[in-house]
Amino acid sequence: MQLEDTFGRKFKYLRLSITELCNFKCNYCLPDGNACDTPTGGLSIRQIETLVQAFAKMGTSKIRITGGEPALRKDLVDIISLCKQTPGIDKVALTTNAYRLNKDAQKYKDAGLDALNVSADSLDPRMFAAITGKKKLEDILQGVDSALAAGIKTVKFNTVMLKQFNYKELSSFLAYLKEHEVTWRFIELMQTGDNQVFFERNHVPGQAIKNTLLTQGWERIIRGGDAGPAQEFSHPDYRGNIGLIMPYSKDFCDTCNRLRVSSQGKLHLCLFANEGHDILPYLEAGDVDATVEAVGLSMKDKKATHFLQEGFTGATKQLAMLGG
Ligand code: SAM
Ligand code: SF4
Repeated sequence: MQLEDTFGRKFKYLRLSITELCNFKCNYCLPDGNACDTPTGGLSIRQIETLVQAFAKMGTSKIRITGGEPALRKDLVDIISLCKQTPGIDKVALTTNAYRLNKDAQKYKDAGLDALNVSADSLDPRMFAAITGKKKLEDILQGVDSALAAGIKTVKFNTVMLKQFNYKELSSFLAYLKEHEVTWRFIELMQTGDNQVFFERNHVPGQAIKNTLLTQGWERIIRGGDAGPAQEFSHPDYRGNIGLIMPYSKDFCDTCNRLRVSSQGKLHLCLFANEGHDILPYLEAGDVDATVEAVGLSMKDKKATHFLQEGFTGATKQLAMLGG
């Protein structure tokens, strides 16, 4: 069985948010930290097991664990291991702010983690603290070194480009890539329900970054058909690559290959959908077949594209709700 929508797009990739909670205060995401009505519990490990088995039955081969901050959950290592041991799941990835990475990289690797995306919005400690509210840059870069030393094969950085903050640091990111064999992904700031004024002040069109890269000799890498919406670039003088995530670009949604499940057990067909489909009752019942049926039935509701260009952000107040 292979999950497919009415536009012929196939979905082998699940993004699973295991908590909405976060310990950082990124100015584009949770500038005031978590609101007091943020749910504290996420799906239990048994509910996650049902979910992962159901998605594996529907042809999912890759799971990204995200949040909020997934490392806030004490059972993160068990969740990685559970995903990896589920027949059909080939690849388990984690997106994290890396605050525990230096301590836990080896445990993640031993549990079967294949790929890691680390958010690092600046290589300047003061700018990093201004964006995230945390003086933790050095720790995070050490965590990445530990992850590479532990043998985690794919390590990528994520940076949201912000006009009034880190945009002027593009050359520092590039200098890092001269020496390090990692991929640095620049994400175009997305408007959400909570960040409208910030968005207007800080949005940098991804095309502007792309033009700068092309004039500096970076070349687009042609990726496989199921590679997803990121555009990748390489340069003969650099060890690392660059990824660009340009959600406002035309055709961005054509290559959509992912579904999302929130920590509250809702299936989100798009990051900016109007609402999630509640599959929690099937997960609570431990009913794999009913979960498969509910997900399959909701696929007809997946739209061709988001409507972000028109400023329509759906039910998404901030991306910590869903994991990006
Ligand atoms: N806490 C983890 C982290 O920061 O990596 C995982 C969750 S976070 C929501 C996932 C990704 O979404 C991060 O790379 C973050 O920078 C990105 N993100 C959050 N809000 C965003 C926004 N409004 N526009 C673009 N990217 C955003
Ligand atoms: Fe937390 Fe990640 Fe949002 Fe930053 S981007 S506030 S680390 S959830």
